[in-house]
Amino acid sequence: METSAKVLTWIAVGVPVILFMELWSAVLHGRVWHRALWFLHASHHAPQGKWERNDILSVTHAPIAMALIVWGCIGEPGLAREIGYGVGVGMTIFGLAYIVVHDGLIHGRLPVGFLSRFRYLRLVRNAHLVHHRKGEAPYGLFSGPWVVRRMSRERER
Ligand SMILES: [Zn+2]
Ligand SMILES: [Zn+2]
Repeated sequence: METSAKVLTWIAVGVPVILFMELWSAVLHGRVWHRALWFLHASHHAPQGKWERNDILSVTHAPIAMALIVWGCIGEPGLAREIGYGVGVGMTIFGLAYIVVHDGLIHGRLPVGFLSRFRYLRLVRNAHLVHHRKGEAPYGLFSGPWVVRRMSRERER
């Protein structure tokens, strides 16, 4: 494949994957972390130490993304491996953004407080803190502001 075709494939695959990961993380968080895996996730809703048991859940997807990227680099040349590479990179971008915003900005585990300059990220933080206070929706991180707005509109009705 030509380089330009490869790059287009990565973008065409990676961008939807980033959006899908937001949806997927919200479903996992609401339906699995808060139910079957609550014994791991509960540590994230308790006062925090340096590390928490919930961190195990944070690294569940990294091995999959890494494997896809490695395959994208050394696998049999062709469209399939470029798609795999796009999926791996999309997952990685989402994972890094999640760590920076969720663990860094919201929970203060990384020195990224300057990000609160951005209005959208302040809304994301407020929405996530609603989740921490109530233990219910919004479960998604980046879609949180819209979910909170929809919930408050429904309450008014
Ligand atoms: Zn949190
Ligand atoms: Zn939670």
